[in-house]
Amino acid sequence: MTTGSDGLVPRRTQVVIIGGGPAGLLLARKLQLAGKESIILERQTREYVLARIRAGVLEWGSVEQLREAGVGGRMDLEGFPHEGVGLSFSGRHLRIDFQENVGRNVMIYGQTEVTKDLYAALDEAGVPIVHEATDVMLHDLTTGSPSVTFSVDGVEHRIECEYVAGCDGSHGVSRSAMPASILREYERVYPFGWLGILSETPPVDDELIYAHHERGFALCSMRHSMLSRYYVQCPLDDDVSDWSDDRFWDELSSRLPPDAASRLVTGPSIEKSIAPLRSFVAEPLQHGRLFLAGDSGHIVPPTGAKGLNLAFSDVHYLFEGLVDALAGGSTTGLDTYSDRALRRVWQAVRFSWWMTTLMHRFPDTGDFDRRIQEAELDHLSMSDAAQSVFAENYTGLPY
Ligand SMILES: Cc1cc2nc3c(=O)[nH]c(=O)nc-3n(C[C@H](O)[C@H](O)[C@H](O)COP(=O)(O)OP(=O)(O)OC[C@H]3O[C@@H](n4cnc5c(N)ncnc54)[C@H](O)[C@@H]3O)c2cc1C
Repeated sequence: MTTGSDGLVPRRTQVVIIGGGPAGLLLARKLQLAGKESIILERQTREYVLARIRAGVLEWGSVEQLREAGVGGRMDLEGFPHEGVGLSFSGRHLRIDFQENVGRNVMIYGQTEVTKDLYAALDEAGVPIVHEATDVMLHDLTTGSPSVTFSVDGVEHRIECEYVAGCDGSHGVSRSAMPASILREYERVYPFGWLGILSETPPVDDELIYAHHERGFALCSMRHSMLSRYYVQCPLDDDVSDWSDDRFWDELSSRLPPDAASRLVTGPSIEKSIAPLRSFVAEPLQHGRLFLAGDSGHIVPPTGAKGLNLAFSDVHYLFEGLVDALAGGSTTGLDTYSDRALRRVWQAVRFSWWMTTLMHRFPDTGDFDRRIQEAELDHLSMSDAAQSVFAENYTGLPY
């Protein structure tokens, strides 16, 4: 357990943040810089959180938020700004230039590193973070004095607060603290998964390649010059043990255009996992003094790299509302948080659904559907307008 500088769990704070993932950590950091108090309750150990390999592409708005929060130093030194992205289809490679189309980039910098930087800044500022908090329960959310109870090492604690931020991801407790009568849930489950590996090999290209292929989708991504992240679309009921490294490399190679396949450097995987894909949105993101942010309120398939970035745009809106309200000013920002955040969420849900639908082979994809996908990709290759729309969405819509 990590707590405040006196080693004790405080009994009162302004904002209890449930979840020490990217959303919760960035919110705590922004509040601390604004002179507001918060406490983070995290179910896992810090080592566990830092070992999770997840997102790696930051939209420009996320980059700017991290810089403004004073945690962009290492990202600017070690991250890789990408000025474009590749789409391969029908044996062709289409590069979409972000700078030319919208005048901004994305940044390649792993979620693990973002999380590490945020933890370091919060530790230095003495923001209390309670790890291995179990049995987290939310109380009196529709009153002026909510509280959160939890246990650490079998000892129960209660923290009184003004607001609760539910940043505890898709399997957290915050969303389930909202009454079913006000909650609407929208979901699309995709009939395939992504088998991903991490390997200490040079990336096949300087930029990401999203590959459309009749055998299924593939993605070539990276973390840095000697760490590659590759994915292939796989059946949902496949098990990681079905996929030896050799089988993975053969499959990936067969889905790439020949020149990329010829540059592919293979090596042992240092991580291998299968992730299911779904789109999910809960509405509203507020119940009384509880506000959901990040994966606790919505999930997107990783196609288009929006999950982490949406967590950060939620935090942007929520922080604005909290700071005003905590200063005794207007609550308009909080009252409109759900609508403002969801407007942007749905845009990203649409984009990632569109890209997933365009790039993957569905079980019922026949020759006609594949030709339609290829026609749309061909249109993208010949239309400046279509490329601008792609670049605008990929690098991130404005907040
Ligand atoms: C396997 C995988 C791969 C992904 N790959 C990509 C990608 O390539 N690109 C991309 O953009 N996005 C990706 N994502 C999505 C991205 O990682 C998430 O959108 C992002 O982590 C959201 O941040 P968050 O803080 O909202 O939630 P999370 O990162 O899930 O953090 C929530 C935190 O809350 C904690 N918690 C949960 N329940 C409780 C509780 N009851 N009490 C206290 N704490 C609790 C959890 O331990 C966790 O630390 C991936 C997600 C997964 C699962």
